Amino acid sequence: MPVTQSSARPLISVVPTSVPDRPFVVYTARDLARIAPLARLSAEQRFEMQVVSSVLPFRVNQYVIDELIDWDAAPDDPLFQLTFPQRGMLDEAYFDEIAGLLRRNADKSELDQTVARIRNALNPHPAGQMLHNMPRDAAGNPIEGLQHKYRETVLFFPSQGQTCHSYCSFCFRWAQFVGDKSLRIASSEADSLRHYLAGHPAVTDLLLTGGDPMVMKTAHLARYVEPLLSRELAHVQTLRIGTKALSFWPQRFMGEEGDALLRLFERLARAGKQVALMAHYNHWRELETHTAHEAIRRVRDSGAVIRGQGPLLAHINDDPSVWARLWREQVRLGVVPYYLFVERDTGARRYFEVPLERVWNIYRDAMQQVSGLARTARGPSMSAGPGKVEIQGVTEVAGEKVFVLRFIQGRNPDWVQRPFFARYDPAATWLDQLQPAFGEPKWFWQDEYATLCRNAVTCAG
Ligand code: SF4
Repeated sequence: MPVTQSSARPLISVVPTSVPDRPFVVYTARDLARIAPLARLSAEQRFEMQVVSSVLPFRVNQYVIDELIDWDAAPDDPLFQLTFPQRGMLDEAYFDEIAGLLRRNADKSELDQTVARIRNALNPHPAGQMLHNMPRDAAGNPIEGLQHKYRETVLFFPSQGQTCHSYCSFCFRWAQFVGDKSLRIASSEADSLRHYLAGHPAVTDLLLTGGDPMVMKTAHLARYVEPLLSRELAHVQTLRIGTKALSFWPQRFMGEEGDALLRLFERLARAGKQVALMAHYNHWRELETHTAHEAIRRVRDSGAVIRGQGPLLAHINDDPSVWARLWREQVRLGVVPYYLFVERDTGARRYFEVPLERVWNIYRDAMQQVSGLARTARGPSMSAGPGKVEIQGVTEVAGEKVFVLRFIQGRNPDWVQRPFFARYDPAATWLDQLQPAFGEPKWFWQDEYATLCRNAVTCAG
């Protein structure tokens, strides 16, 4: 049923909100000078932002500026760090190169070439996602906009959802936003998605991601997800939507567009589908506004569930009390704490990364501060090439200090839940910096993973 028909019908279960309408006003790198509170910072700091935002994407909206950032605490404020570019996000050499070009008003083509070279050096697609996760059609051509890394779950990148209401300064999907088509994964092909899902009965979960699919009009979203109500897609039980709209633009869930969206969720939920918003949160402050509370309540009223997840980041949330408070607030509001991630190996990682041992200690300390209902947050998890690898702890086995690791999710389902050990390394920040423990020459999964990567189509299921 097209969404226009159902939109005439009132929401069944969602209580209306008193949150007033607010226009969506957004600023990008070109508009830095128009963001009034930035006048509080020095001219040098503002120039640094201009340099960094020439390379890494920048976008912030008025709600974030007015309601989330504590300008008295800027630039150290975690919500400011979450959204505004900082000098340390670029290596000194890159920073100096771009700063030099801007200072001497270099011509556009010289600047563009330098920016492109630097972006390519920043691992724009971590975990080999451009190469290894794209399924292929019968003729061997990659199917645009789809990733099929794990047997049960298909990721889809709707082309209208490849931006966000604001950008996170650490975003691992940053390459989606910089306007280079060769770096972008997207599709507007609702039919090819439907066809692919129909041909893969082992798929139980469809994850819409981006960018943020919640930037899409509800009518566009409906084109992708209404086929889940058909008999041929009965095996796809769960629709997950990765989003930060509950934090960056909770008004998305208000007004006419919000009603239409919740009506769609309601229809899917009433038809027996699990609708899960995989809500990205980094700090409890994102949960403090009345609008954020109302958005959460309305989504839950529709029958959808909300699961909270996000990475642990220096300058933003590398503190156990921040995570404990975030998880407690989530539970209070009805959001299920789901994942604590390790910052990925891309973009501005050097500014945000935290050694794995410290990440684990923060996770453990935070867990110890909360009750059982908040201990549903899994992690710390690295979304690496071979799978989602959890750091279970640091301990000593047979006289050797080791990291205990296990796959939460793996390219081969047989790897899942198998513990394995890495030599202790206090400086390591990612899986590829670890070595197998006990003198082993390689990981138990290494040969198989190499074969999967060589074939590059196996992950298509
Ligand atoms: S919401 Fe997600 S995709 Fe969008 S900028 Fe933040 S991390 Fe990136």
